[in-house]
Amino acid sequence: MKELRLILGDQLNLNHSWYQVIDPSVIYLMMEVASEAERSPQHAQKILGTFAAMRAFSESLTSLGHRVHYVTISAPDNQQSFSSNVSYFCQKFAVSSFVWQEPDSWYVDQELKKFFNSSSLDGGDTTTEHFLEPRDGLSLFMKSRSIWKMENWYRHLRVKHNVLMEEGKPIGGAWNFDKENRKSWRGDPSPDSTSRPTHDHSALWSEIIKAKVITFGNPDAAAFQWPSNRDESLAMLKRFCDTNLQFFGDYQDAMSEKSQTLFHSLLSFSLNLKMISPHEVLNAALDALEPDHNNIASVEGFVRQVLGWREYVRGIYWAKMPDYLSSNAFAFSNKLPAWFWTGEVDMKCMNVTINQSLDTAYAHHIQRLMIVGNFSLLAGLDPRDVHLWYLGIYIDALEWVEVPNTIGMSQYADGGILATKPYVSSSAYINRMSDYCKSCKYQRKEKHGAQSCPFDTLYWDFLITHRKAFKNNPRMAMMLKNIDRKTESEMVKIAARARDLRDNIENL
Ligand SMILES: Cc1cc2nc3c(=O)[nH]c(=O)nc-3n(C[C@H](O)[C@H](O)[C@H](O)COP(=O)(O)OP(=O)(O)OC[C@H]3O[C@@H](n4cnc5c(N)ncnc54)[C@H](O)[C@@H]3O)c2cc1C
Ligand code: SF4
Repeated sequence: MKELRLILGDQLNLNHSWYQVIDPSVIYLMMEVASEAERSPQHAQKILGTFAAMRAFSESLTSLGHRVHYVTISAPDNQQSFSSNVSYFCQKFAVSSFVWQEPDSWYVDQELKKFFNSSSLDGGDTTTEHFLEPRDGLSLFMKSRSIWKMENWYRHLRVKHNVLMEEGKPIGGAWNFDKENRKSWRGDPSPDSTSRPTHDHSALWSEIIKAKVITFGNPDAAAFQWPSNRDESLAMLKRFCDTNLQFFGDYQDAMSEKSQTLFHSLLSFSLNLKMISPHEVLNAALDALEPDHNNIASVEGFVRQVLGWREYVRGIYWAKMPDYLSSNAFAFSNKLPAWFWTGEVDMKCMNVTINQSLDTAYAHHIQRLMIVGNFSLLAGLDPRDVHLWYLGIYIDALEWVEVPNTIGMSQYADGGILATKPYVSSSAYINRMSDYCKSCKYQRKEKHGAQSCPFDTLYWDFLITHRKAFKNNPRMAMMLKNIDRKTESEMVKIAARARDLRDNIENL
């Protein structure tokens, strides 16, 4: 009996039990398809990095003795969709069984199940052996709880997986050190930036262009800086734990023109393609905990992201899809301005973040959340369009993790399922956490004039407009209370300037 096993582009887990036995009756199928790029344009580095890592993975399997059939983007028999390719190659190789690892995308999951159910093949799906929790782990945990809260889930996982626990209590005496993790960064200490590999992917890039895959952003093909395999990913993990992790906690919310990545790990691409596992990442971070627990704030801050947020957003995705994608709690419908794709905008914070994203396919969490996301929500942009922008631009953007972060955390379009309050701020937060405002055309001190900061006007306008909707939310109480300090005439000016900003959004 011959069996076809599908390996998707984000299933590059060399430690999967599939590969422990070499079986000549098993054919592994890998394919480069452009269907994702048809839904929304993708950053050149995302396509390049994914294809490069897939090709390297295929070579690794082949060198171990496995039989791999790899369909390149320009292969004449590439059917350009997952199910069409699977159908075609099942017939071509005359297999009687088809097996696949659970896709992380709801759509691909549906597509493969539909194909399988309509076929007469044996087989079925199996786990990716990557995540700490199953797809439905979060919804089962939340069954008896009325409010979905990341913190409850995170504490549950800390105990369940015995992470940073000592005699049943959290190490360091607290579950959370967020208050210590809010420093701005003025240039010292220096972040380490030596951990990244360099590849010349020029030949692959030419192939992608020839295949007419729609991309945008800087391909950086000749000096490509994202890892292509497990060894490079592990080297980045080690270097991060040896250097930047100790400052991760203090500066995780900081932003600066002087450093694009600061003390962040840049591991999301490796993790999401499964070149490394969350277990490995967590263990490496836990090994870096000093015996006196002096660096607990940094280690816990990092563990919270990988164990808490990453597993949480995945659980939300599987609990709420497919309806989640069309959530639009505020019924916002404004279009994204063209400068989201060019970076040609005078608002310094947006200019820096968008240009960096176009150039490197990366922005760190606070840039995504409190700069671009914050602006998008305050400006009333259509959350579906915002989602497609995020899905296209970031190297690590896969729907299961991008959608809850964008639709839920950043745009509050789910009405508060993922986040307990909208992540909105005025320029005060941006100025405190970054050096962007110093060299901005807009003036924080000016109140309502043409040079006043768009974030300030839009922030107040958002709070005033949605005041009623948030009146029972205790986490919004402080913010809403400040509205009472505004006079009637000030509110009129805010509304007028906000209208003007939205009408002239292309010219900010
Ligand atoms: C609007 C928006 C969109 C986002 N889209 C994506 C996306 O498409 N893919 C993606 O992996 N992350 C996404 N994130 C989460 C987060 O911003 C990125 O994981 C992080 O910036 C990746 O950089 P890093 O590896 O240097 O992370 P670090 O800051 O070093 O964090 C370590 C790891 O923790 C995990 N992590 C941290 N925060 C989150 C989070 N909120 N959700 C899930 N995992 C998290 C990531 O795996 C990350 O690699 C998004 C956040 C926002 C606000
Ligand atoms: S002044 Fe306003 S627009 Fe300019 S960088 Fe600061 S927050 Fe951004």
